Amino acid sequence: MKPAPFEYLAPDSLPAALAALAARGWDAKLLAGGQSLIPVMNFRLAQPAVLIDLNRVAGLSGVERVGSELRIGAMTRQRTLEEDPLIERHAPLLHEAVPFIAHPQIRNRGTIGGSLAHADPAAELPALAVALDARLRLQSVRGERWVAAADFFLGLFSTVLEQDEMLTEIAIPTAQAGSGWAFVEVARRHGDYAQLGVAARITLDDQGRCSSARMVFLSAGEKPIDAKAAAALAGASLGEEVFDAVGAAARDEINPTGDIHASAAFKKHLAQVLTRRALRLAAERARKNVGGTSSR
Ligand code: FAD
Repeated sequence: MKPAPFEYLAPDSLPAALAALAARGWDAKLLAGGQSLIPVMNFRLAQPAVLIDLNRVAGLSGVERVGSELRIGAMTRQRTLEEDPLIERHAPLLHEAVPFIAHPQIRNRGTIGGSLAHADPAAELPALAVALDARLRLQSVRGERWVAAADFFLGLFSTVLEQDEMLTEIAIPTAQAGSGWAFVEVARRHGDYAQLGVAARITLDDQGRCSSARMVFLSAGEKPIDAKAAAALAGASLGEEVFDAVGAAARDEINPTGDIHASAAFKKHLAQVLTRRALRLAAERARKNVGGTSSR
């Protein structure tokens, strides 16, 4: 199918793009990589009156280190996230997970900002942004605000973005000494959306005790699920017993809906199995990083 007719704007600066968005509001859609928007337009599930193409807007892509954060422009392609040396070194969880997104051809076009704004609960980047404690910069002609990724996602394909706001930048704290990470997911074929996945982070103190832990699930609900079960890891002596207990708690905590690819019961089973796998790997990496800077 072909999309319904629309007006096409291609601003070359952020102020021009924000002005166009403010003028057209909910009638407009921002076009980033087009890997989610164009299919839904072709199916006529979305029929925006105007498309504001961000691909010529200067200054919206790239990765740089600013103090203890990585700053990533919203139009940075997913392929760049996969290959950028700053991300590999300072956000190894992101580096590990990005190859699970679709296929290289899609990652060549798809952007980090587009995936976050689209807010598909089965997508990897929303869960990663929450797991990494990312902050998101939202700009409009009225000004800007920074929102924690944990507060950005409201539900199925729904975020706190107002009609005149654009996501322009993502800030991710750099990995610290004593931190370990793991991303695991199960999909029917590599590149398919996951039946379930989890991004895990564990931080150990100088004595090797767990000081904090985070587990965020994708495909487990209407938005990324920041599992409370992870709290039991803080202060615990990490090993199979506690990983089993946290896995069982995560299974009981999530409340997924089944779909044609996986029943709710199977997803809950995956939550238990993948939690154990992710925690084992994250803990092993954290132990290697105690007392030094994070390294792979
Ligand atoms: P677009 O499609 O251009 O935009 C998506 C939405 O976000 C639109 O509503 C748009 O208006 C809005 N938007 C875009 N940029 C901004 C911004 N800066 N500020 C505010 N709103 C904005 N994704 C996965 O995570 N995992 C997968 O396994 C996966 N598999 C895929 C398989 C196929 C065959 C295809 C076609 C896509 C797949 N995707 C998958 C989706 C892909 O990752 C998309 O790139 C991503 O979801 C959207 O990014 P985009 O840059 O293409 O955004």
